[in-house]
Amino acid sequence: DRVDLVALLSEVVGLLAFTASDQQVELVLDTPERADVFGDADQLTQVVANLVENAIKYGRQPGTVRVDLDYVQREPVLRGPAWRMSVIDDGPGIAAEHLPRLTERFYRVDTGRSRQQGGTGLGLAIVKHIVNRHRGRLKIESKPGEGTRIGVTLPAATEPTLS
Ligand code: ATP
Ligand code: MG
Repeated sequence: DRVDLVALLSEVVGLLAFTASDQQVELVLDTPERADVFGDADQLTQVVANLVENAIKYGRQPGTVRVDLDYVQREPVLRGPAWRMSVIDDGPGIAAEHLPRLTERFYRVDTGRSRQQGGTGLGLAIVKHIVNRHRGRLKIESKPGEGTRIGVTLPAATEPTLS
């Protein structure tokens, strides 16, 4: 089905608004007017919800979580136009040694923060699986002490509307 990522992101940000404010995290959404991809809306909602939940849980508190949506004219690996959703936090980040294993099932970084927050370590494994099923790309970038950016790029179903 055709899924509008703008509506989907707004819905997730709305659903997590209370969790965020409870943790003193400001959620900032920055999107164009419309961004269509082909896929399963429930699964893509799960992807974004997992990423935003992680950013709230493991980011800075108080802090800011940004959710951006950008058009990529020609994504080199997907070889075509794409929409890139990014979830960005300003938290402690993830040490480089852990990055390759984050999408393994049950893998959790053993920090005081993770132990205290609790979780099963399945979130990113599910995210990876769903993104692959949508022929998309998952990119995890982190700078310890500065924050983490997780990007999900999906083949675009429409071009951006001119404004
Ligand atoms: P679940 O999502 O199943 O409730 P989880 O959040 O621990 O549990 P994942 O979402 O797969 O599992 O994340 C794996 C680990 O990656 C986390 O335990 C955490 O240590 C680390 N992590 C994920 N996102 C971030 C982030 N934005 N900043 C810092 N660490 C992160
Ligand atoms: Mg998680």
